[in-house]
Amino acid sequence: MSKNGYLQIHDPLKPKGQAVGIDLGTTNSLVAAVVKDQPVCVPVDEGDALFLPSVVHYAKDGGVVVGARARKLASEHATDTIASVKRFMGRSPDDAETRKLGHYKFAPGAKVVRFDVAGGTPVTPIEVSGEVLRALKRRAEAHFSTKVEQAVITVPAYFDDAQRQATKDAGRLAGLEVLRLLNEPTAAALAYGLDKGSQGTFVVYDLGGGTFDISILKLVDGVFEVKSTGGDSALGGDDFDRAIAQRVLETLGASEAPAPALVAEVLAASRKAKEALTDAASVEFSAGGQTHSVKREDFDAWVQPFVQKTGTVCRRAMKDAGVTAGELDGVILVGGATRVPAVRRYVAELFGREPLGDIDPDQVVALGAAVLANLLTTADRQDDVLLLDVIPLSLGLETMGGIVEKLIQRNSTIPTTAGQVFTTFKDGQTGLDVHVLQGERELVEDNRSLARFTLSGIPPMAAGMARVEVRFQVDADGILSVSAQEQSTGVSQSITVKPSHGLTDEEIEQMLLDSIDYAEDDIQARQVREQRVDAERVLAEADRQLGEHGSLLQEGERATIDSAIARVRELMKGEDHLKLKEAVHALDEASRPFIERVMNQAITQVVAGHSVEDY
Ligand code: ADP
Ligand code: MG
Repeated sequence: MSKNGYLQIHDPLKPKGQAVGIDLGTTNSLVAAVVKDQPVCVPVDEGDALFLPSVVHYAKDGGVVVGARARKLASEHATDTIASVKRFMGRSPDDAETRKLGHYKFAPGAKVVRFDVAGGTPVTPIEVSGEVLRALKRRAEAHFSTKVEQAVITVPAYFDDAQRQATKDAGRLAGLEVLRLLNEPTAAALAYGLDKGSQGTFVVYDLGGGTFDISILKLVDGVFEVKSTGGDSALGGDDFDRAIAQRVLETLGASEAPAPALVAEVLAASRKAKEALTDAASVEFSAGGQTHSVKREDFDAWVQPFVQKTGTVCRRAMKDAGVTAGELDGVILVGGATRVPAVRRYVAELFGREPLGDIDPDQVVALGAAVLANLLTTADRQDDVLLLDVIPLSLGLETMGGIVEKLIQRNSTIPTTAGQVFTTFKDGQTGLDVHVLQGERELVEDNRSLARFTLSGIPPMAAGMARVEVRFQVDADGILSVSAQEQSTGVSQSITVKPSHGLTDEEIEQMLLDSIDYAEDDIQARQVREQRVDAERVLAEADRQLGEHGSLLQEGERATIDSAIARVRELMKGEDHLKLKEAVHALDEASRPFIERVMNQAITQVVAGHSVEDY
């Protein structure tokens, strides 16, 4: 209290809220934050679960349900409930990868995937992921009682440019400033504190629900460098579920194309069975109206092909990094599917050592992301945050004859830039086609097309005279921008390339605007509903009083009340909650003298020895 008696209001720095780390998983998503120097995961779902199943259900009335509740709706509403949306991020509807995936309905004719779900407008994977992120943000805000606006979001090391961009856009759509996209294996290393004092070469083996990633990290003087990465964006515990489900469907005598609802039910039961088999030698469960039983040794045999597939990828990554299993100093397990005993055995054998395991493999990525979010928001000097990462796939340009010229090799440390000078091949040529590709193969058609654009406005000159430098720049998130410049004349034109399977800035803006518009619609809808409930109550009360005490009505009163009732009934069918409120008020007014008479009579009767309960 200051001497003049006013409460001294401390002028705090603008509160920053809580920065969080988010593991936006294919199967499960988690949010964590550093609290009192310790990273911890935040409860985000039913029963204080630390995992939010990455499942989003779109209801007929336009409502959106996220998490375990959504997953339960998947069997019955297969096409309106989007699971494993991460597999669709940054992909087009006719990608081979996309076509393999499941039972969803795609809106026709679009360049990006749009799920045709209940409730009207089709949704993109970015919007679906945005819902997952929004749910995590809200729950973290409730948990910390403060706003959450800054996040580090993790992505598989294997994600290409379009997939990274899509993830960043989803964050933005959820109202998050994405501090950094962080490779999941790198996050795991951070959680193990490998940045502090450890030396040596470590392997991060991450088998989740839908993606497999391997990273080989080398630690020198507290700084770690990712020596190599590899993976398979379509391999994980989901495949184990399918291995069981396939046998179950066979037992059930299901047709070639079983009903989506049956498939979803059998898959859900198979996942539970698989998880139970981690601790039990055999399991019994029911699905499709029959009881099934699976022994662990059979399960182990069914999943062997998938487990061995991870081995192929691991050997290649070791070769890329130039290390042998014997030279490794540690193996970190990440991802729920590494709980499967057959996987643990295989990994131990492959690398010739028992993996580290004192941090929960399900949480380790989110915890590491929280560590980086904390560093990025609290470090005095940003250069103190040393984190070297590599680009997962080579980046290049199409040259004559449909050949790819690589400008940036895979496993190059990021951020990085590279340039290449091109020239015109025809006299007077004023435009140059630039086709940006990602991948390891030699021919254009075997790589992923990231973007195409034409640099126009080159002054007409003789063939071979123009000098166009195309520059690639990869930022710390692993996202590429490309610029092109004609050098000999000083004419310059820079173009920032957006991935062809992503959304434009305008589309993102529109979605943000839409979500605000919908928020208003949502409030409006709620007010209408609340007012209707109120009107319902008033009408029931009026009916009751008129029925019981009709004898107390005066000349002409009934007609006035009836018309007020009719007006309320009429407006209840509409959407205008203000008019409805007025009508309810008018009904109150019209019936007040009558209700007062009813009350007076009641009081008179109580006084006369009746109790109120007799009414
Ligand atoms: P993602 O990173 O893809 O979101 P997670 O790391 O959360 O995936 O792993 C999810 C996978 O782990 C699922 O396939 C799930 O069934 C599996 N899983 C979770 N717990 C167990 C368990 N106890 N035994 C076997 N598999 C498990
Ligand atoms: Mg994961």
